[in-house]
Amino acid sequence: MSFIKLMHVEKAYNAQPPVLKDINITVEKGEFFVLVGPSGSGKSTLLRLIAGLDKMTTGTIQINGETLDMAPPQERNLSMVFQNYALYPHLTVEQNILFGLKRKGVHKQEQQKRLQESVELLKLTDYLHRKPKALSGGQRQRVALARAIVSQSPLCLMDEPLSNLDAQLRTQMRTEIKQLQKKLGLTTIYVTHDQTEAMTMGDRIMVLHKGCIQQIGTPLELYNQPKNLFVASFIGSPA
Ligand code: ADP
Ligand code: MG
Repeated sequence: MSFIKLMHVEKAYNAQPPVLKDINITVEKGEFFVLVGPSGSGKSTLLRLIAGLDKMTTGTIQINGETLDMAPPQERNLSMVFQNYALYPHLTVEQNILFGLKRKGVHKQEQQKRLQESVELLKLTDYLHRKPKALSGGQRQRVALARAIVSQSPLCLMDEPLSNLDAQLRTQMRTEIKQLQKKLGLTTIYVTHDQTEAMTMGDRIMVLHKGCIQQIGTPLELYNQPKNLFVASFIGSPA
């Protein structure tokens, strides 16, 4: 069953030429779907449209069978992880993780239960009372992931979550994110400009260039049957 469906989505800022053109995608429940493309190709804009943080110019977005074109972000039942982590500097790890649940009025006991589960999964148990500035990059990223997980939203959008980490940690976090995603059955849309990340993590990958979909397929399909020269050279297949 397709969990997310984008139909003829377009986005133009002001009177400028569109930065996204005729985007049609379906993402299956539990799928790890990667959006990859060079800087400026429109990846973040597309995530923001799905999250409701920005308005489409035309088109329709369905999540779980519901058309959400007018729904504000808080009604979309999704979580988001950003490149810069977007943690509140004045709040502790615990307060950062629970921020959304408090605002939603989730019961205290339930908050604590979810907090314990998520910090165990992300190995943050010893850091609950620290502020973000007293954490390493990898730990901050884990807090951002924990905050996404406690929401128990079935859909998670991630925008270049690993790009601020060093190479070794990045490789490790790739594996961790995939394990977490499979374990929770989270439908995930993951944005990156890094081909290796896309190829190693994606169940399917969509290659975006200048606002246009170049190809959607499994890593093997993209590698063995690139649809055009851009995909071939971007993915690095022997075209
Ligand atoms: P990516 O995430 O792939 O690097 P973006 O989605 O951030 O790309 O940007 C796609 C294009 O849209 C770029 O040309 C960018 O300059 C433009 N853009 C993004 N946000 C805005 C905005 N708020 N106003 C005008 N143009 C924007
Ligand atoms: Mg971006």
